Amino acid sequence: MKLCKFSKRSKEHAYKNFTDKRNKLQKLKFASVSFSERLVFVPHCMRNIAICTAKEKDSYYTCSECSGCKINKINKLAKKLNYQTLCILKGGRAIEKIIKEQKPRAIIGIACFFEGYQAFKILENTDVVVQFIPLKKDGCVDTDVDIEEAEKVLRYENQDFK
Ligand code: SF4
Repeated sequence: MKLCKFSKRSKEHAYKNFTDKRNKLQKLKFASVSFSERLVFVPHCMRNIAICTAKEKDSYYTCSECSGCKINKINKLAKKLNYQTLCILKGGRAIEKIIKEQKPRAIIGIACFFEGYQAFKILENTDVVVQFIPLKKDGCVDTDVDIEEAEKVLRYENQDFK
């Protein structure tokens, strides 16, 4: 049992290191992409499922801004900045399909470390640059993100790093 816990922790540590490094490597390139060519991916487990009225579209949902969870704020900021769109992902497998259809040049992904690791891997042979924001509480339901961190990353522009 102890070995199991150790192995889980060491895997998480490895995913964290990997995603931290990729974020740093891709930050400047990400910041140079115009807002209108960026997508935001958030996980469906962040929704408040008791009241959520998000609309289902094939492989993702779109937020209908019921104010029931933090996705509302992120969606409003993405719209204000003129982001291409925000997709509430049903699962990581939808990523490739959405990228093919919507052809963004950059994405922001909010997820657990494992999903973040997988997304970087899926996109490593493409021209799409990524900034990953880890959930501060992960799991299958009621997950949570640091909203200030998410808003900061959404606003990234080149001038921020000069
Ligand atoms: S704010 Fe959007 S994602 Fe959150 S519960 Fe409401 S409709 Fe669903």
